[in-house]
Amino acid sequence: MRKNLLDFNYEELVEEFGKLGLEKFRVDQVWDWIYKKKVFDFEAMTNLSKENRSLLSERFYIYIPELLDMQISAIDKTTKFLWKLEDGNTIESVLLFHPDRVTACISTQVGCPAKCVFCATGQSGFVRNLSAGEIVSQIIAMESHRRVNIGNIVYMGMGEPLLNYIEVVKSVKILNHKKGKNISMRRISISTVGIPEKIIELANDLPEVKLAISLHAPTNYKRDIIVPMNKKYSVEEIIHAAKEYQKITKNRVTFEYILIREFNDFVDDAEKLAQLLKGMGAYVNLIPINPIPSSGELKLERPHHWAIERFKEVLDKHNIENEIRKEKGTDIDAACGQLRRRHKG
Ligand code: SF4
Repeated sequence: MRKNLLDFNYEELVEEFGKLGLEKFRVDQVWDWIYKKKVFDFEAMTNLSKENRSLLSERFYIYIPELLDMQISAIDKTTKFLWKLEDGNTIESVLLFHPDRVTACISTQVGCPAKCVFCATGQSGFVRNLSAGEIVSQIIAMESHRRVNIGNIVYMGMGEPLLNYIEVVKSVKILNHKKGKNISMRRISISTVGIPEKIIELANDLPEVKLAISLHAPTNYKRDIIVPMNKKYSVEEIIHAAKEYQKITKNRVTFEYILIREFNDFVDDAEKLAQLLKGMGAYVNLIPINPIPSSGELKLERPHHWAIERFKEVLDKHNIENEIRKEKGTDIDAACGQLRRRHKG
């Protein structure tokens, strides 16, 4: 049976090509066509002989997800993609344009088991993990469709990356490989709701990759309500793992904090957050929530402008570095899972 070539890392491909009697430099050539020239058909790889092209076609194919929908923001060019995978499942990816770089936000699972109450993906349930090739293919497909060179990657789309650990780590190594996309580890960031043992594993396996933890509340009482996985891994366990991660990697951890009106935007919440992060040298991204339909008792409304500023002032007072995240793509379905949900009707 033919296999998706994108699911193989460099070393595995050298071995696979070897079995076909192809030298190592043939892997370099094929990766150059795929990652640099965005050519996904062996027949168009003209520096391979006809014989080698057909050998490769018999053993491999290169699966690039089918584009179902693409929305481009008229305000800031933020581009949201909806892809169809080989088995008919759909996933999203986003391109974010900054003055000096293009950042890609990619998915790691179809759906997500974490079920965060403010997230359309979490509400849609979990279907399956993505393979390393399916993760990597989002990058090359976006570059190919929008003719851009992606300089930064955030694993922050659909899914909880650390629940698909092996494929996520493999995809990072493929994207980082100097013969392929060659993205520096330092320009790759993995965002998690916080799975303590996996955070430590990540620190050892990919010490240069950046880590972002979606905390969203400073106490277990409040976090249990909005991030159900907190019932399994408490705030204290996550902070402990983050401190260990910092010790091992010497990297600063970023904490994401979605601000929800009259739920977690009080001075008391900010004080508790500051206490929790005291002495860590951590960075906090404050993200005022985009209004979405309420979940049960909880109203998911954007805080008042003054409440956002008040929260920030408390963190500033305690010397916790932070910023209020500027929204991107406000005129399109840019938040995670929205485009996919709309297509499902
Ligand atoms: S916010 Fe992230 S971790 Fe939470 S349900 Fe959505 S995709 Fe999963």
